[in-house]
Amino acid sequence: MQPIDRRTFVKAVAGTAALAAREAVTATTASPGAVFLSTWIQGKAANARAAETLKSGGSLLDAVEKGINTAEDDPNITTVGYGGLPNAEGEVELDAAIMDGARHRAGAVASLRQIKNPISVARLVLEKTRHTTLAGEGAFRFALQMGFRPQQLLTPESLKKWLDWKADPKRQTFWLNPADNHDTIGMVGTDGQGHVVAGCSTSGLAWKIPGRVGDSPLVGCGVYADDNVGAASATGDGDLMTNYCTSISIVHAMARGASPQEACVELLRHIVKTDPANRTAQVGVIALNTRGEIGAACIAKNFQLKYALWREGEGRFLESITLF
Ligand code: ASP
Repeated sequence: MQPIDRRTFVKAVAGTAALAAREAVTATTASPGAVFLSTWIQGKAANARAAETLKSGGSLLDAVEKGINTAEDDPNITTVGYGGLPNAEGEVELDAAIMDGARHRAGAVASLRQIKNPISVARLVLEKTRHTTLAGEGAFRFALQMGFRPQQLLTPESLKKWLDWKADPKRQTFWLNPADNHDTIGMVGTDGQGHVVAGCSTSGLAWKIPGRVGDSPLVGCGVYADDNVGAASATGDGDLMTNYCTSISIVHAMARGASPQEACVELLRHIVKTDPANRTAQVGVIALNTRGEIGAACIAKNFQLKYALWREGEGRFLESITLF
């Protein structure tokens, strides 16, 4: 991908009124204290828990893990953890990853069944093993060894949604077109002292083909964190985004001098440039650097990214800029 300098970036966005107007909202000023940035509405509670965890003496990794647990535990969030919509066979399969910018190491789990807090299992992969990613049956057995209790992750509501989908002769399947039912929680955070962590957790795309692994548990795709630069996370069509190594691309753009906002836009422009059909792609990204400056962007209005920002003791819920 070609890096863009600041002037080219400004010129490129100047013509897009909606983009410019929303840019103000994204407030990219440096922040002295801790900052948490999370995707979608579930990010509000997640940020609040993360901030509370850090304040009461937890580490930044604890903060991101506990923050993300709030979305995993909530049965009303149908895209993460307990209550997440299942695969085509009615099984909930969860993906999650957490990356520590200080150690430059991540832990991840993919296609994990029956365990509602995959981010915590991912954290233990990071802390207790020298592996980075565990998948499927092995991830499940590891979770049991770590003391997690298996449970049914379908709620009456998610079961009903799956039965309705199954009963619909015209239902969309992933052998054809992607359905539109997903919204990962992705979180990036800094402690205000130059340390960054990224995490994300998802049930992936509803009705996915069993065994499908999205971008979320893939290091460099769903999450990336480097204390020399910053952190990024992604939400949206993981089958598409995996091909762009979304999060590491953003962090590398920041390493070349882009602000988090510029880095997000640069990557999204690249995705559209390589295939104009991606002008309507469901891609949303968030990023922050070690100074607490933030960025958030999505490609298209049909997938308007909303995100929660916690900074200087205050939580806000915002809309990202859109490219088109
Ligand atoms: N990226 C996730 C996946 O494809 C879904 C989402 O973020 O909405 O599994």
